[in-house]
Amino acid sequence: LLRTTGLRKSFGSLEVLKGIDLAVPRGRVLVLIGPSGSGKTTVLRSLNALEVPDAGVLELEGQALDFAAPASKKERRRQRETLRDASGMVFQHYNLFPHRTVLQNVTEGPIVVQGRPRADVEAEALELLERVGLGDKRDAYPFQLSGGQQQRVGIVRALALKPKLLLFDEPTSALDPEIVGDVLVIMKQLAEEGWTMVVVTHELGFAREVADEVLFLDGGVIVERGAPEQLLRDPQQPRTRAFLDRLL
Ligand code: ATP
Repeated sequence: LLRTTGLRKSFGSLEVLKGIDLAVPRGRVLVLIGPSGSGKTTVLRSLNALEVPDAGVLELEGQALDFAAPASKKERRRQRETLRDASGMVFQHYNLFPHRTVLQNVTEGPIVVQGRPRADVEAEALELLERVGLGDKRDAYPFQLSGGQQQRVGIVRALALKPKLLLFDEPTSALDPEIVGDVLVIMKQLAEEGWTMVVVTHELGFAREVADEVLFLDGGVIVERGAPEQLLRDPQQPRTRAFLDRLL
């Protein structure tokens, strides 16, 4: 579904991504782990066009977006729209609109951006909210919800866009420990349903159970990659080992 080759990104003189090659086949789950500042969030934001890489190629369903080539404004817009249309993002701090209800938060994108009929979108949104146990919260405002509930709304908002790809940026790291499991269970169900997912997380149990592949990033490069069993249990690189030792 998605492949990147040689993705690079700098912020001023700080090179944050130094050539990221990754591939996510349809229906698979890729988990990114790595220390703070290693570039995980920037990878995810590049996949969603929240950041524009300085170089590299991103292929989405065979369609190539080349970031190195000098691009016209029109071409940049096409790149941005292609990526935004393809993915739904779940953020660490939920990023819900504070002055909109739960239902409005979920339906705004499909109605306003995708131009789908309100009645259909609302019916689907309510079904999704029911599914994550929030059917009775449709008219609540974000401040009236717990962190775990807000994050479930964040997930439903991403799903309502019917994206090809779900992106999760440390979706549980702002949550109280006893609530983390609720959100991980939902993510696991989505993986089992066949959603294609890229997940940045420090939850190694989730990675072990759900990931098809784990990438360990450090200093803007992929230091090691592999099946979760292998990479988490028997890392080959000293940097990976040191990181995992610190986390456990
Ligand atoms: P964390 O786990 O702490 O979220 P991360 O691995 O996700 O870290 P990134 O958020 O991708 O790391 O950041 C990588 C580096 O890029 C950091 O040094 C960060 O300060 C820097 N950075 C990220 N975004 C920007 C920006 N918009 N402007 C300048 N520097 C940035």
